[in-house]
Amino acid sequence: MKQAILVIGAGMVGTCTALELRLRGHHVTLLDKRGPGQETSYGNAGVIQREAVEPYPMPRGAGFLLMAALGRDPSVSYHPAAVLAVLPKLWQYWRASAPGRHGAISRHYAALIAHSTSEHARLLRLADADDLVRRSGLRLAFRSGQPFAQALADAARLQRDHGISFQAFDGAELARVEPAFRRTLAGAVHWSDSWSVTDPGRLVERYAALFQRNGGRFVHGDGSTLRRHGAAWQVDSADGTIDAAQAVIALGPWAESFTQRLGYRLPLFVKRGYHRHYADGAMPSVPTLDAERGYVMSPQSRGLRITTGAEIAALDARPTPRQLALAEASARELLELGAPVEPVPWLGCRPCVADMLPVIGPAGRHPGLWFNFGHGHQGFTLGPASARLLADLIDGATPFIQAEGYAPQRFAGY
Ligand SMILES: Cc1cc2nc3c(=O)[nH]c(=O)nc-3n(C[C@H](O)[C@H](O)[C@H](O)COP(=O)(O)OP(=O)(O)OC[C@H]3O[C@@H](n4cnc5c(N)ncnc54)[C@H](O)[C@@H]3O)c2cc1C
Repeated sequence: MKQAILVIGAGMVGTCTALELRLRGHHVTLLDKRGPGQETSYGNAGVIQREAVEPYPMPRGAGFLLMAALGRDPSVSYHPAAVLAVLPKLWQYWRASAPGRHGAISRHYAALIAHSTSEHARLLRLADADDLVRRSGLRLAFRSGQPFAQALADAARLQRDHGISFQAFDGAELARVEPAFRRTLAGAVHWSDSWSVTDPGRLVERYAALFQRNGGRFVHGDGSTLRRHGAAWQVDSADGTIDAAQAVIALGPWAESFTQRLGYRLPLFVKRGYHRHYADGAMPSVPTLDAERGYVMSPQSRGLRITTGAEIAALDARPTPRQLALAEASARELLELGAPVEPVPWLGCRPCVADMLPVIGPAGRHPGLWFNFGHGHQGFTLGPASARLLADLIDGATPFIQAEGYAPQRFAGY
């Protein structure tokens, strides 16, 4: 049965959800405070990470913890008060990162990631957005031999277990294929099945335009006005009051305050990240993770976008772009970096869940309310596949992959 459905949040996840539901014939309204794709889904590295079959665990080695505590590991940074505030969730994250549990979690994650490029491909074709996409992979570059050897062993294991492809480059081969680098590195793992885009926010806009061309409605409004109205859901928008039989929360980093207000206790937290563009300098030919320094160099339409690792800090705390300064210095060692484009770095928040799996499914205590958020490091990758899974659940169809691992109900006492 076709229904009136309201999707709140027009990032990659909400926009794909609205689009998928509209393509299935539902009457869909997509609501956001801002335009589509202007928050986290704008600021990321733009990599569609088909290789990310295992979500990023919390590193558990004593060496990492010491370096992180001393502020010497560039991949992580923190505000002490924020760490204390989310300590119980970090503890859950730590426990979920133990090898046995991480293996079980990864089996769910791999099932969804396996459909990341194929689901994007379907929407890219319909949206006529292929011009934004490069199907040229993701490179992990290593400065020293031991981490490179470990990465090669890990890559071989992932290739064997998941059928994803990579190429190995030693230092001399890397120097040949990447003349932009002015020093010889230990080598690189090049994941060939991953894709990237030249403008992540623009891709979300193209998906939103496809949604509207197909009869979907986009409105500006504040999702926190959502309320029950008889058997329906109701929200205020710039176009007046909107009523819908079903509502989907796709608020990314803002989902926590929203779900808390409705009485749900989910282990959500954010890992903040920064980016800045550098113009008129050298660019690597493919997005490249400087693996031992924890930042990504991504060639984009505005220049070379450098994105940083994780900062544990409150969503709205003041910016502290220390990691970006370190990343910029590291990038300058590797290539002729251009001039910064923005006077102030961009800051955004990865919407994370303590068990590393997104929350996709029915809200449980509120009939007709659905969740689709918590995609952490890979929400740009997972938007279309997550949308398909949620649309299957809303339609009462057999989900195209097993849905239990993503259900909000997996959290005891939630
Ligand atoms: C530095 C960095 C690099 C990253 N790199 C990658 C990458 O290479 N590949 C990848 O797959 N992922 C990457 N990610 C993660 C990815 O960007 C996120 O997981 C993804 O963008 C989350 O999408 P979303 O739609 O859930 O959230 P968002 O894109 O944040 O969308 C949420 C929407 O909710 C709206 N909203 C908030 N409050 C309200 C309200 N009250 N009413 C109405 N609307 C509201 C916002 O305006 C926003 O549009 C990166 C993240 C960061 C920070």
